Amino acid sequence: MRLAGFRGTIPDGDYGPGTEMQVTAFQRLFMRMAAPHGRADAETMAAIADFAKANPVDFKLLRCPCGVCPGFGRGKFKDEYRRPERLEVYHLYEYPGIHRMLLWTYRAAQLHARARGWTLTINSAYRCAIDNANHQRTSTNHHGKAIDIDIIGSGGTDRTRCNSLRGILVEQAHAQIGWSAPDRKSLEPADIAPTWVHLDVRSYQRKYLADRYFVKDLAALDAVPA
Ligand SMILES: [Zn+2]
Ligand SMILES: [Zn+2]
Repeated sequence: MRLAGFRGTIPDGDYGPGTEMQVTAFQRLFMRMAAPHGRADAETMAAIADFAKANPVDFKLLRCPCGVCPGFGRGKFKDEYRRPERLEVYHLYEYPGIHRMLLWTYRAAQLHARARGWTLTINSAYRCAIDNANHQRTSTNHHGKAIDIDIIGSGGTDRTRCNSLRGILVEQAHAQIGWSAPDRKSLEPADIAPTWVHLDVRSYQRKYLADRYFVKDLAALDAVPA
């Protein structure tokens, strides 16, 4: 889970081959180990805590701007859909916070961005049903399942930097452009998001969108998940 930005796909909680691959990637990229062993030993756990500290998440930037809800929606519309098909894309539920996988991926994205001399920030995250109505928006992706990342930096144009960051997230964080494969993090293509990077977990199966994966503050994000 906390290594979501290092190959990670879904929060399955099992320590399997996928986890070992994530730990190996983390040991190579963050711990700079010459021969990563893929075991989550005490040294690696301490390094994950250092990684979290070095790549902050500002929850003020994640809150809904509507001014009515408490910041992360009101938990309304669970199991209600905008169309007859009960697909996540039409799900109206205001999830209780931002999905943890997005924020841990954002942390890894900061690591990769820093290597290129860029700084990342969040330009938009939670947008509840009220905020959607205020802006005549129908997509419910930003009901906790999406963040929009901005890049501050030089070298190329904002568009080419956004394309580069999408490429990095595909390569390093196992994200996909679009939503075709289940259980992968999704990036909006450049024609939808030219000057920002939209990352979401809409294509996750329902069990990976359980309430416990959504967080409203740093303590919850940094907690070791049960
Ligand atoms: Zn709101
Ligand atoms: Zn977005």
